[in-house]
Amino acid sequence: MYGIDTDGPATRGDAVDLRSDTLTRPTPAMRRAMAEAEVGDDVYREDPTVNALEERVAELFGHEAALFVPSGTMGNQIGLRLVCEPGQEVLGDADAHVLTYEMGAAAALFGLSSRTVVSEGGRLSADQLIAQVRPHGDWHLTATAAIAVENTHNRGGGLVQPLTELERLFAWSRTAGVNVHLDGARVFNASVASGVPLATYGRLADTASVCLSKGLGAPIGSVLVANAERIAAARLWRKRLGGGMRQVGVLAAAAHHALDHHLDRLATDHEHARLLAERLGVDPTTVETNMVVVDDVPAPAVAEAAKAQGVLVGQVSARRVRLVTHLDVDRDGVERAAKVLTQVIGDLAGH
Ligand SMILES: *Cc1c(COP(=O)(O)O)cnc(C)c1O
Repeated sequence: MYGIDTDGPATRGDAVDLRSDTLTRPTPAMRRAMAEAEVGDDVYREDPTVNALEERVAELFGHEAALFVPSGTMGNQIGLRLVCEPGQEVLGDADAHVLTYEMGAAAALFGLSSRTVVSEGGRLSADQLIAQVRPHGDWHLTATAAIAVENTHNRGGGLVQPLTELERLFAWSRTAGVNVHLDGARVFNASVASGVPLATYGRLADTASVCLSKGLGAPIGSVLVANAERIAAARLWRKRLGGGMRQVGVLAAAAHHALDHHLDRLATDHEHARLLAERLGVDPTTVETNMVVVDDVPAPAVAEAAKAQGVLVGQVSARRVRLVTHLDVDRDGVERAAKVLTQVIGDLAGH
């Protein structure tokens, strides 16, 4: 079902690794596709597999052009730089990956200022952001050039952004001369969960970075999409940052394979996450995609005790653990993790 590889997921000893969906390993079929890839020098734009991937992803998201980059961080930061000049401001939510987990890159590399609004659980509110936008042309103010949106929201526990809010924000941004950047590291999960086409999410952003190395299970790679003029500029930024790559058709082949075989099956990861929540007594309405957030537990102790029994979990804070389902965790693994975690959390609560 779901077009999953017939030769099944890669194995990982016998641990169930729920720390992140970045931890997937290329399946045997993906490795074969990589081995057989046609390649060329991508800096010369002569890698046919990369060129085809860029065309494919641009089309998926309804944009003119795309650029293959080594990481989501590079995709996001180049994306922001395309729509924001030094001294201008990126506005986003306080938990946004681009402003939280990318090591201050927008400021350190590009001189971009940033400002945040605190949103509840990462949920986008167009009004809240619009109210904070600072206009261009004032001789005191830092102009807001771009708004960054994240879908699904990582620190929001895999939350899918409401389409109506995305639409409202984008429509307003057209009237205000502000650009929208989408951090779509997990936009594939968002689309599978909501049924909203990727092209719809794509047309609600001026620049978007999407990851092939999260739930889709490629070993590396993200793609930045935008109009042709911006992608031409992005190509220069990528080279300047040391992200010009050579015979990376081997990596693009993994990405093609992931799009062919691992996109629809994200529904299975979502089903697994709901199952985990159910077993652990977590409110199922908090689980929209492939993440389960367990609050009010001693996170380091839970992680350590679970690890001793072959279940790895992420620690988000002292009292919060995160479980992420993915390609390398099957139904048996989910059941085993649920059993171990129920016992571990129960034991620790009893002390
Ligand atoms: C993982 C992730 C990224 C990109 O991370 P890289 O490790 O640089 O590929 C960007 N945004 C979000 C929301 C993410 O979860």
